[in-house]
This record gives sequence, structure tokens and C-alpha cells, in this order.
Amino acid sequence: MNSNKRIIGVVPVGEVPELAPKVIAAHITGYLKLSAEVLTPLDHPAYAFDEMRLQYNAGSILNFFDSSPFDEYDKVIGVLNVDLFVPIFTHVFGEAKQNGKYALVSLFRLTEGKEGYKLPSSLLFERAAKVALHELGHLFNLFHCQDNKCLMHFSGDLEDLDHIPLYFCRYCSAYYQDALSRI
Ligand SMILES: [Zn+2]
Ligand SMILES: [Zn+2]
Repeated sequence: MNSNKRIIGVVPVGEVPELAPKVIAAHITGYLKLSAEVLTPLDHPAYAFDEMRLQYNAGSILNFFDSSPFDEYDKVIGVLNVDLFVPIFTHVFGEAKQNGKYALVSLFRLTEGKEGYKLPSSLLFERAAKVALHELGHLFNLFHCQDNKCLMHFSGDLEDLDHIPLYFCRYCSAYYQDALSRI
């Protein structure tokens, strides 16, 4: 086991603010203590567009990742700026396959400020980083946590998201360390 060798790929998918993947990569390194690299952007995911819902199917994008050559990376997170959904929810901030390799985060639903105020981009990026780190937690097989002072607490809306921290509770942190040692 050599945790220094573990690399997370952060891949922009379609048009995203240039800073977003960089900020997410920096948070992965700072909070999860993993190396992270921003990869060459992928094209806009037109294949995932659902004509009925006028949204993008997160599952289709994850399947596309499955067929892409990301061999050098242990985990890969896609960064988007489109309205993502999974069939059971109206929309999602991000998506990951439990204990899998690929995850997504979208800025699309994260831009809303309080009572119509424009959201500062620092808060937008912090939200995106939280969603990204939470989804990466799922890739390391962490489940949702009851503790609302934990990154793995489920966020149903932006208010929830703004309340959770960027770090794991003690329990999830121990689980994460254990998951790292087993990879
Ligand atoms: Zn989750
Ligand atoms: Zn927890």
C-alpha cells in the first residue's frame, strides 16, 4: 500500500468555469490527502440528454466514463455545468456508484444565492468541492451518515449542503482510512 501513488482524476465535461476543476482538485488533496490531477476536458455530454425531462442522465455519463480510458487513475470525478438527474430524483448535485470508480458533480444547481442575491464564486466552488468530496466518499464505499456535522450527511437541498462541513466525522474518517488501506 502506498497512498502517495493514488491519483484522483478530475475531468471537466463540457463547458465549466476553468477554476472549478482546479479548486475541486485542491480540496481533494487538502481534505482527502490524495493526489489529484485535472484532466483534458471531455465533450459536452449530448448523449445523456433526456428529451422528456430536458435534463442530463447521470447514469449515462457514468456509463460513458466506464468505456473511457482512465487507466492511470484510481478514481475519476467529472465536473459539469448541466442539470443532472437520476430516475428517482428530480435533480441531483452529484452522483457516484457506491464503491465504484466514477463520480460526477454539477455546478448547475449550486449557483442559487440567498433571496435572489448573486452567489459569490467562492461559495459556489466550496459547494462544488463539498459535493465532489461527498461523492468521492461513496467511491471509497462510505455510506450516508446520520451526523449532520459530517461530509457524508445527505444533502437534499442547498441549505443542507451549506450546513455540512468539508470533513468526515470521526466514524466516517476511520472508515475512510480503512478503505484507503485496503485498496
Ligand atoms: Zn450521497
Ligand atoms: Zn460521518
